Amino acid sequence: MKSLQDPVTALRGVGPKMADNLATLNIKTVEDLLTYFPNRYDDFAPTNLETAVDKQKVTVHGTIVSEPMMSRFGYRRTRLAFRLMIGHNVVQVVYFNQPYLKKQVIANHDVTVLGTWNAGRQEIQGTKLLSNNNQQEMGAIYPANKQVHQATLRKLIRVAYNSYSDVIATLLPISFRQRYQLLDRKTMIHDLHFPVDGQAAKMARRTAVYEEFFLFQLRLQAIRRAHRQKDGQQILYNNDELRDFIKTIPFELTRAQKRVVNEICRDLRSPFQMNRLLQGDVGSGKTIVAAIAIYAAVIAGFQTALMAPTEILAAQHAQKLAKVFERTHVNIGLLTGSMNAKQKKMMLQGIKDGSINLIVGTHALIQDQVEYANLGLAIIDEQHRFGVHQRQQLRMKGQWPDVLAMTATPIPRTLAITSYGEMDVSVIDELPAGRQPIKTTWLKGNQSEQALQFLKGQLAQGAQVYVVSPLIEQSETLDVQNATDLYQEFAEYFAPKYQVGLLHGRMDNEQKEQVMKDFNANHLQVLVSTTVIEVGVDNPNASVMLIYDADRFGLAQLHQLRGRVGRGKRQSYCLLVADPKTEDGVRRMKTMVQTTDGFVVAQRDLELRGSGDVLGSKQSGIPDFKVGDPVADLKILQIARADAGDLINTPGWDEKDENQPLVYYLKRHELTTHFD
Ligand code: ADP
Ligand code: MG
Repeated sequence: MKSLQDPVTALRGVGPKMADNLATLNIKTVEDLLTYFPNRYDDFAPTNLETAVDKQKVTVHGTIVSEPMMSRFGYRRTRLAFRLMIGHNVVQVVYFNQPYLKKQVIANHDVTVLGTWNAGRQEIQGTKLLSNNNQQEMGAIYPANKQVHQATLRKLIRVAYNSYSDVIATLLPISFRQRYQLLDRKTMIHDLHFPVDGQAAKMARRTAVYEEFFLFQLRLQAIRRAHRQKDGQQILYNNDELRDFIKTIPFELTRAQKRVVNEICRDLRSPFQMNRLLQGDVGSGKTIVAAIAIYAAVIAGFQTALMAPTEILAAQHAQKLAKVFERTHVNIGLLTGSMNAKQKKMMLQGIKDGSINLIVGTHALIQDQVEYANLGLAIIDEQHRFGVHQRQQLRMKGQWPDVLAMTATPIPRTLAITSYGEMDVSVIDELPAGRQPIKTTWLKGNQSEQALQFLKGQLAQGAQVYVVSPLIEQSETLDVQNATDLYQEFAEYFAPKYQVGLLHGRMDNEQKEQVMKDFNANHLQVLVSTTVIEVGVDNPNASVMLIYDADRFGLAQLHQLRGRVGRGKRQSYCLLVADPKTEDGVRRMKTMVQTTDGFVVAQRDLELRGSGDVLGSKQSGIPDFKVGDPVADLKILQIARADAGDLINTPGWDEKDENQPLVYYLKRHELTTHFD
């Protein structure tokens, strides 16, 4: 029985050596070969010469009606001419300096000529000459490499199609195909590789994109359902008690905050394990949302955990939450890697006996020795900083605790749909009222003095300032050196009026914390730093962020850095000093100046870098799509997602005959699919 899952060696002419070569393109099965999509086509659609203008690029199909006439002139220069009949017209065709084409010029043969139209002489100056043995107007061009050449791919795909086309089953349900006028799979594969014209190729691609997204979403949502069916905890808190707590918060929650609190609370009460991503720009107020969820779980009698990526951040959270929970019976414990054995033992004891009901810490929280009494809710802050594996470990602690992952890296809708399809997503898309947008300015390197003058002016008004030193790629030592040099310059420049501090990754935690404390207490007015401050540092009086060589940073990182200011009542500023050497760098600077909206920044980032890079594709599980582009084909992605959801939520869908190819497809991918 032939099957698309047959290895490529099942094809005539493919031996083990060729199979190895094909594997370098990730082609292992016949199906891989048939779904190895061209990234473009040579367009051989004919041009109408009657309407062609001078110097226009043209393609014509015709019959050679003369012998080739070859003349040589100058040093190794040749001119090859012949006459070509196109319909009822005859035109002259000339090729310069391609004498080897002469043997292709045979009277009465059909050819395709690509070239430039010379209207004055009614002549085509040719660039390419193809003998026409089929009427295809489009030639597929595949991504090839050193091991597997273009011509080989073309040949093998033809062979594969000829011997397997009769076993290509259609995967997409008929109802969806009819609704969007999509092709059956056999036609789709045929027209992708051998389209008769541009329209056919376009239709085939449209079907292929939908199919790719649909299958992907079906897999994600199947996984999500499997998760959902797992027993979780029902966290049944007293609603009035929670309301009373919310009343003690000194500000009114934004509409967006209220909405996401509701979404989270609904999950807490449900018997399934929550798996929710909370997205919100820097400063949008995720912490208080987390606090409300924690409080709900605690009054329902559960333990809670909050995991942060660094010790500084964990300590800061513990401090802030202690204040929020001041008059409650939330009992906070801080667990970090740098605690001594005795402290740690006590802490572990408290976690085990349940006397601590909010554990804040770093990834120390997920180590095996940590035994929870009854963990009901686990929250991950800055979740993109944790690996897939660590997040998974937290999900497995205790009795399937509800998990809330928070991120300040706004993920464009596109990526949220693709990579977090198995998570529910809540978005805080609104900043607390009264925040003044940060004013961002881009200065050239020779305007640094201007930046320093500006700093002086702001310092004189009582502001505090961050200075981020240039990033030296792949060398922490040089980064540290840089920051240290810059620190000394600034210390001299601002002495004796203002105090300057230094923060970098090589300092130990105690030193770091001391510097942070001094800065928060305004004992230091200027903080020179490497990107250590990127995450979570919160000093509302700091209102200027000066970033040197800003073009060396990615958009996401620049946005994070900028988010350190604009947290208080002062008008805040971000100064980018940069002389970008690439077009890309210029666009990044312009984006930063144009917008402070994290979602816009993230979308631009995605466009500039491509979806694979934005979150590091391996870690975040963003797949490499073969045909679909989650940015350009967003509409199709959204539709396919909804359709996959509709199908999988239809009771008995997997028993219908017409869906058996899909059921089989899911089974086949069950074991090889891993999304966090
Ligand atoms: P992030 O989303 O970056 O974690 P935080 O939770 O640290 O943001 O909130 C930033 C600041 O805004 C904090 O000082 C917090 O107290 C304050 N804040 C949060 N929500 C509101 C609100 N609805 N109104 C006013 N201030 C708020
Ligand atoms: Mg935060």
